[in-house]
Amino acid sequence: MAEKTFVVEKTCPICQEMTRVVKTRSRLPVLKRDEDGCVHYDDFNPYFYTVWACEHCGFAADEKTFTTKIPDRHLKILRGDLLSNKFGIDFVEERTAEDAIFIFKLAISYLEEVEDKFSKQAKYTHQLAWVYREAGDEVNEKKFLAKAAQLYDTALAKENFPVDGLTDSAAIYIIGAIYWRLGEYEKCAAYLSRLMKDDGLRSRDPRLADRVRDLWGDVRGALRDAKK
Ligand SMILES: [Zn+2]
Repeated sequence: MAEKTFVVEKTCPICQEMTRVVKTRSRLPVLKRDEDGCVHYDDFNPYFYTVWACEHCGFAADEKTFTTKIPDRHLKILRGDLLSNKFGIDFVEERTAEDAIFIFKLAISYLEEVEDKFSKQAKYTHQLAWVYREAGDEVNEKKFLAKAAQLYDTALAKENFPVDGLTDSAAIYIIGAIYWRLGEYEKCAAYLSRLMKDDGLRSRDPRLADRVRDLWGDVRGALRDAKK
């Protein structure tokens, strides 16, 4: 375990105190990648460590949020909330699925509190579903997958893509892949068909085009089988 993660100290963007956080090493050997982007590693789940938490004030967010400037409007809301009743999160070097679920839900609550981007809420919610997936909790996995799909869909309607490196095509694919995982093949096909009609996709993003083509084949097969 120790060789897959390491501890660093970072300044909390909310309370400005130093807090310990766990980083994961890159280049871990990949076991498999699910259709919706969830990557599995041997005996290790990096999604447990996506969200950093402050030991002093209880702020929780991903590394990028911790280390880049937070909009003033968000700072005002979060400081007003967190600095008055500092409830610090106990530092643990090795998180359990339960720890990860707690910290993801806390981070999502802050995104909702500041009305942060739907695409960001979608990403956190999707990764929370992956933690449940690895834990074998199918009921909660499906609940948060469905929520993530809705949030990505809202993001497509309301945000200007690309957002944080995510293109609109990639977001459409993710929604399709989530519906595939949920067994909602008609919905999966509806989203993927938007990309199948997009003649420019292969030249813009050949890897995504391959994924769309593969999953399109699978979902067409599943729909045919369902009609038999
Ligand atoms: Zn803090």
